Amino acid sequence: MKKLRIPIRKIKLAFAVLASLFFIWVFIGIAIRINVKVTNWRRLSEIEEIDPGSYRIFSRFIDDIESETDWNVAIISGLRSREKQKELLRENSKNAAIDKSRHVLGRAIDINLYHGNWLWRVWLKKYNSSRDWRNTGVVKIADKHGLLWGGSYRSYHDPVHFEIN
Ligand SMILES: [Zn+2]
Repeated sequence: MKKLRIPIRKIKLAFAVLASLFFIWVFIGIAIRINVKVTNWRRLSEIEEIDPGSYRIFSRFIDDIESETDWNVAIISGLRSREKQKELLRENSKNAAIDKSRHVLGRAIDINLYHGNWLWRVWLKKYNSSRDWRNTGVVKIADKHGLLWGGSYRSYHDPVHFEIN
C-alpha cells in the first residue's frame, strides 16, 4: 500500500491561507463596528441640528439598550428629506405620507440590533418577528422613554421604527 504523505510545504501554505482568512475576518468585524458607531453618531447629529429634544431622547434610548441588554444599535435611518420620503412612498404606498412621516421632522429613527463580538454577529432586522423584537427587551425600554414602536402597527410590520409621540 502506498503511504499517504502530505508535503510539509503544503501544510505550511494551508496554514498561512487559513491565518490570513482569519485576520481578514477579524478586520472586517472591527471595520463594521467602527462604521456602525460613526454612522450612529452622524445620524444623531443630524437630528440634533433640527430638534435637540428628540436628539436627547434617542441618545438616552440607545444608551439604555446598549447598557441594559446584550444588544447593540445600528441606526439605519434617521432624519429624512421630503424628497427621500417621496421616493419611499413611491416604492411602497404603505410608507408614511410626507407630512405624516416623523422622519422628516427628526422625530423617528429606524434601527437594527446586533450582538456578538469581533468574531461573529447576529442581526435583528425588519424581517424578524415582533416577538423576536420584544424578546430583546428593547420595546420595554422604548416604552420607558415614551416612544411609539412600529412593531405594534396593525397594518404594517415595521419593528425597526421608533418615534416620539
Ligand atoms: Zn421609520
